[in-house]
Amino acid sequence: MIEWPGFHDREVLYVNVGLLTGKTGLIMGVANQRSFAWAIATAAARQGARIAVTYQNERLAGRAAALGEEVPLAGTYPCDVGDDESIARCFERVAADLERLDFLVHSIAYAGREDLQRRFVDISRDGFALAQDISAYSLIAVARAARPLMQGGGSILTLTYLGATRVFSNYSVMGPAKAALETSMRYLAADLGPENIRVNAISAGPVRTLAASAVRGLSQFREAVATQAPLRRNIEPEDVADAAVFLASDLARSITGQILFVDSGFHIMGA
Ligand code: NAD
Repeated sequence: MIEWPGFHDREVLYVNVGLLTGKTGLIMGVANQRSFAWAIATAAARQGARIAVTYQNERLAGRAAALGEEVPLAGTYPCDVGDDESIARCFERVAADLERLDFLVHSIAYAGREDLQRRFVDISRDGFALAQDISAYSLIAVARAARPLMQGGGSILTLTYLGATRVFSNYSVMGPAKAALETSMRYLAADLGPENIRVNAISAGPVRTLAASAVRGLSQFREAVATQAPLRRNIEPEDVADAAVFLASDLARSITGQILFVDSGFHIMGA
């Protein structure tokens, strides 16, 4: 029998009960050890999944290889989601190597630093389009590519932030990109549901990752969570990873079109 020691004892979270045994997953967006994608890949492998990962370009290939030293990886593939040919090449290789996918994690976002740092009213047309393309449209593109590999059903997960619906200074151009991502998640859930493909999002609390470092004032976001969230603490990538495992697992078989907040409850608070 498993004894559950402390309510927030990290050891407990790592109990491997094989929630993803027999499943194959592709996790997109490994940049380094702080990436949500890294933590999700690690947690999914620990739960028995066969895992492959993608990275944006050759500059980041070494990071995916480093992940492969920590967990067994069935493949590592470059995939630039701004480039349809790159997506096609990636999924051709995934199909050849893995044959099917039970789950896909889209953990990718990008906005130009200059557009993140100027006043919202001054965001450029190109900067707005780029953030939408890489951070929101890419979910549709990869869902389309993954669909033929999910015969009989599957789970698609993306990562979003509360800045989609509330104003956070300096989140700026990413706010509308996350709003489009969340809406796309729901439309995909409706479109792919009859094929038993579930599509969900995790809305994560602020964590200092490579992508987040482009957002000025992140430490104020974290301070707000630590002092105002019901749980009075910030989250870690591992918290997101465990929720991602649940959504990829059969335990979540009837959940689709949802945003699951992993933010210590911050989003429920008013003044
Ligand atoms: P990260 O920098 O580790 O991951 C972002 C990934 O996006 C990187 O691997 C990067 O290479 C990839 N990427 C950017 N442009 C790409 C392109 N053209 N093609 C392919 N990949 C591309 O940071 P992260 O915080 O782990 O971000 C993962 C997801 O989590 C993002 O969607 C982010 O918005 C979301 N998120 C982050 C936070 C946070 O505070 N860190 C909070 C909520 C949601």
